[in-house]
Amino acid sequence: MFSHNVSLWRLGAALALSLTLTAASAPAALAPQAIDTEPFERLGQRLVELADQRAGPSANAADTTSTRLESLHERIRFGAFDLWAPLVTLDAKGREAPGARAKDLVDRGRRLLALQRYWLEREDPSEPTHAAARAALPQIETWWASFKALPHAPPSEDAQSALAALQAHFGLPMRSGRRLTMIFAPTRAQYLAVVGARGLLSGRMRRHIWTAADLTAPFTSLRDGSSVLASTWALGREGAGLLDDGGMSKPEQEQWFTHAAAHQLVFWLVPTAPPWFVEALSIDATLAVCGADETNCTGCREIENIPAWWLGGLEALSLLSREKGPFRGASATRFAKPLRAAAREGGFTILDLERERPAEVLQALILGPNAPTPAEAVHGGLGVRKGFAEFQRAYTVAFVGYLQQEFPEPFRRLLSALRRVPYRAVPDSTALHTLVREHFELTLGESTDPALDLEARFRVWLTR
Ligand SMILES: [Zn+2]
Repeated sequence: MFSHNVSLWRLGAALALSLTLTAASAPAALAPQAIDTEPFERLGQRLVELADQRAGPSANAADTTSTRLESLHERIRFGAFDLWAPLVTLDAKGREAPGARAKDLVDRGRRLLALQRYWLEREDPSEPTHAAARAALPQIETWWASFKALPHAPPSEDAQSALAALQAHFGLPMRSGRRLTMIFAPTRAQYLAVVGARGLLSGRMRRHIWTAADLTAPFTSLRDGSSVLASTWALGREGAGLLDDGGMSKPEQEQWFTHAAAHQLVFWLVPTAPPWFVEALSIDATLAVCGADETNCTGCREIENIPAWWLGGLEALSLLSREKGPFRGASATRFAKPLRAAAREGGFTILDLERERPAEVLQALILGPNAPTPAEAVHGGLGVRKGFAEFQRAYTVAFVGYLQQEFPEPFRRLLSALRRVPYRAVPDSTALHTLVREHFELTLGESTDPALDLEARFRVWLTR
């Protein structure tokens, strides 16, 4: 089997940044490369034509967003999320093929509701719209349990007001009118067609989403609030082979879908949190909803624009390599056990995942405000950097688990306060640290004294 590694692309120094995922077996690529965009163009063109035919005279040719494809989908609302189920798909030759199977949609809908429940169970229940949202969830779950086939009967009036209550609580749609939309693509051809259509409709998006990584990725953020999710792996790496569907196991489908949706939701709710915190919450949510998270994810899927400050934090995540890491598999304990096993005097053993042997003992705190990648990882070569990336992933998820277990009430208040931090063009990257000081009366990642610092206290807990 090939591995599902991740690529982070740097397209220039400033904001020209594309965060993408790939299922390629090559090492993480850090520079753009020329790719054959033919599948994007051919299939995208066909999909737009088909959508406009279906939409009829009302088709809005000026619409440069994914919404132009709506006529080819049934839009199913799940409160914070819309799920788009294709009524028709394209095959590799651009011909019309059957749409989504009902059984594939049942589970996707359940996951979207479970993610909203995950958030509601962790935020401050005194939020004004919280009680109505909590009460709405079971009603919506009952409505969705009746789903048998497309087209689904419209929700009853009760279910409709429950959906509205949930949506209102999550503050959606966005000011731009956009919604958090998960576009389901049953085949590689359909996935490439959707990414292709988005690039054709908005030329300035092309360089961000028509990349080598996106050709083979399991999902792509279309940068208008929507993401397209494939439910097969790309078997081939180029040419016609890109359209060959490789079997994706049910757990893989569920985890990739849930993780991608978790990013959409978490980043929408707490966009000012540092990348590691958004990623850790997304993994924690996927673990809570699916029981495991074997995805290799670069981190945030942006919603309305591209925050430059993601750059540094994501570099390490681009090196995730799940096959060799000790911090994988089902994790009810949020990796506390393998982390404990890695603990050494005042630090943690970092593995060299290329040579498969212990390399460095990391002593530096890593959760501080704008904390750099530790020198031990930077100077240790590719294998050590991969080892550090896997360590950091487990460590931050364990940290989020620790807060929920040991400080449930302050953690709720922290999440809700973080949500209230206004999002600006240049967000305050230390908002989390300021709020930790306020709600825990401790610094975060600034002192090795457990009496003063939350990360130091977490290390004592982890190694006790
Ligand atoms: Zn992620």
